[in-house]
Amino acid sequence: MKITKVSIKQIKLPLKQPFKIALGTDYEYVGVVIRIETDEGIIGLGEASPSSRITGETIGTVVDIIESKIKPLLIGKNPLNIERIMDEINSAILHNPSAKCAVDIALYDILSKYAKLPLCKLLGGFKEEIVTSVTVGIKGVKDTVLETIELVEQGAKIIKIKIGLDPVEDIEKIRAMREEIGYDIKIRIDANQGYEPREVIKVLNEIEQYEIEFVEQPVAYWDIQGLIQVKESVGIPVMVDESLLSSYDAINLIKAEACDIFNIKLMKAGGIREAIKISNIAESAGISCMLGCMVETRIGVGAATHLALALKNIKYADLDGHLFLKKDIVEGGVITEDGINRVTSKEGVGVKLIKEIF
Ligand SMILES: [Mg+2]
Repeated sequence: MKITKVSIKQIKLPLKQPFKIALGTDYEYVGVVIRIETDEGIIGLGEASPSSRITGETIGTVVDIIESKIKPLLIGKNPLNIERIMDEINSAILHNPSAKCAVDIALYDILSKYAKLPLCKLLGGFKEEIVTSVTVGIKGVKDTVLETIELVEQGAKIIKIKIGLDPVEDIEKIRAMREEIGYDIKIRIDANQGYEPREVIKVLNEIEQYEIEFVEQPVAYWDIQGLIQVKESVGIPVMVDESLLSSYDAINLIKAEACDIFNIKLMKAGGIREAIKISNIAESAGISCMLGCMVETRIGVGAATHLALALKNIKYADLDGHLFLKKDIVEGGVITEDGINRVTSKEGVGVKLIKEIF
């Protein structure tokens, strides 16, 4: 089998509401969809959701790197040789993980369609479903509580709230949420690097009584000593997100004993292949993983859900990025019902374009 054509398309999709986190606010989703065609008629779809704040990429850099560097490497290659193709791409291009991720997802889509299997079965098939958190962006106490109640009424089993801008308000929000929803629903929190170590230690010690599942990225991504300080001073498990992009980061974080849990995202890692490496390294070091996502279509969240179902060591999911979109360009890929993600029995990632965009 040979790759005969590679096409990319920029997409811009409205969000249901603006999404505010400690790093900034998003008003719409802009991403890139890739379509890889083969001489045997099998077509793979992939997606890049670039984030200048997290991966240092923009739509422009993704489009340029794919057009100028990646496309020439792909044409004529056997798409089933994913290890060889990704090795060539990694040798030619430093960083740019979401651009690499788009290609990687499309190649795994082709491989699993060729094998006539849903991707999760090809990659390991460990579980049939995974509970996902649903995220509430930064808003006032009253609005946070109202949105939490709404999400719980819709079936959410885990609420993740974004914090990191105002310690007093963050403590009050969590107290008010517990008062309203009780303790049957799990709460996880994500500071997106918003705090200094000393500040966040105070906040976390204050809210520990409200049963927090874990705290994501309490301090700046580069502040490994700060992470260690937080981990050693609080009872809430510490998860890294922005500090962990590649498998090299994973090794360094494990050596430093800087965290309790990893948040792996396909867009940060550069796709499924590198995400599996991170999860395997973590598993051997006794660190469990969550699979997270950016705001993404059902291509990206679908691929991530397949991977989360495939691997034993992916014990948590924050795979709700598709739920932020007012409309999607694809259907299938992932089914989210009552706060649980599943996939269909379709081959590959299982997504289909709602209308032709290429
Ligand atoms: Mg995060």
